[in-house]
Amino acid sequence: MFDLRVSEEQTAFVEAARKFAAERIIPVAGEYDERGEMPLDVFRAAFDVGLMNVELPEAYGGLGLHTLDGCMIAEELAYGCAGVATSIMCNHLGALPLLIAGDETQKQHWLGKLTGEFAFVSYCCSEPEAGSDVAALRTRLRRDADGWILDGQKRWITNGGYASFFTGFATLDPSTRHKGITAFVIPRDLPGVSIGRKENKLGQRCSNTVDVIFEDVRLGPEHILGEPGQGFAIAMETFDKSRPMIAAQCAGIIRRAMDESIEYSRVRKTFGVPIAQHQAIQFMIAEMAMAYESVRLLYMKAAWEVDQGIRRTSTSAIAKAMSADLAMKCTTDAVQVFGGYGYTKEYPVEKLMRDAKLMQIYEGTSQIQRMVIAKNLLSRSA
Ligand SMILES: Cc1cc2nc3c(=O)[nH]c(=O)nc-3n(C[C@H](O)[C@H](O)[C@H](O)COP(=O)(O)OP(=O)(O)OC[C@H]3O[C@@H](n4cnc5c(N)ncnc54)[C@H](O)[C@@H]3O)c2cc1C
Repeated sequence: MFDLRVSEEQTAFVEAARKFAAERIIPVAGEYDERGEMPLDVFRAAFDVGLMNVELPEAYGGLGLHTLDGCMIAEELAYGCAGVATSIMCNHLGALPLLIAGDETQKQHWLGKLTGEFAFVSYCCSEPEAGSDVAALRTRLRRDADGWILDGQKRWITNGGYASFFTGFATLDPSTRHKGITAFVIPRDLPGVSIGRKENKLGQRCSNTVDVIFEDVRLGPEHILGEPGQGFAIAMETFDKSRPMIAAQCAGIIRRAMDESIEYSRVRKTFGVPIAQHQAIQFMIAEMAMAYESVRLLYMKAAWEVDQGIRRTSTSAIAKAMSADLAMKCTTDAVQVFGGYGYTKEYPVEKLMRDAKLMQIYEGTSQIQRMVIAKNLLSRSA
């Protein structure tokens, strides 16, 4: 049964993540956002205190925590900075194709790299002409003697400039759409792999986002994940398992927007009273609390289903879409609570609003989530 009690172990991890956000992330978040640079020392410190790769199984050197535990940690990190949370959680996204389809040798080798030392893996699905429509991807995989040749260009790849290896997807034949898609895992230093342009983004600016380019990259059978042609199913299962994490990050963003709004509304005075006494402000804060409680329940249920092995695509999609939309609403309202000051970099709420916008775009836009939810409902037998 879905049980909301939080264990002592979960409380300890949440407290550690909350402390880390307060001491290591919040003090530098504004500065790295402004510069658009990865705070590598923060990520290294997160690795050292055990806040990265928490869900990797113990057999590969990980902590073996559940998706729900990882989500609760993600909420705390995103409270500090959603860009930092995205880059930390991206290792989980990049590891999922290995966990889903890797053989034992591949898992030992690649997942061991993430747990043995401070390292990033990036997830290479999207391309310049294929984001929402994953089956339209054009990166090619051609047979060559006893191996393969990989050619193509990936776009929007989180942590790509710092990753020591990549998981990703290519097609054997674009005309076959999803049937030809094949998953791969490759090291960054393979000849023909290079990093392209870096995006200058609206929000989550401290998270690195780049193109990754493959030119005549020679792969062996050890670089293929699962069977050729199984890649689309692997990509979709990856999203089912990673989307609760996005919802959890939204919970952190919403809670931060609410806390900042409460604090500011108590001290800012208009018409002789703190703005907290105006009902219009109270209602915005009340709605942030309503959103936070809803989003927390949604991500917990979605994560719990993943941990129980229940594959329900629509639960993850509902959690992701609802949470992203509420994060956008609450952060926009937080800027409103702060008035003109909210629109400046003097306070953190404008950054929350910019950071929240990405939640409606990556890992499937809010429109794509609605398509997934509707398809699920409409395909039910009468
Ligand atoms: C900062 C950032 C980090 C990212 N990190 C990664 C990463 O690490 N790895 C990775 O693989 N990808 C990553 N992405 C890519 C992200 O997943 C895609 O941007 C996203 O899936 C949308 O694809 P697109 O940008 O090509 O938009 P498009 O697919 O071109 O969509 C444009 C608009 O059309 C809408 N739309 C599209 N199709 C339909 C339809 N059938 N019905 C209704 N509306 C539709 C969309 O919702 C959107 O509003 C990242 C993106 C960003 C911005």
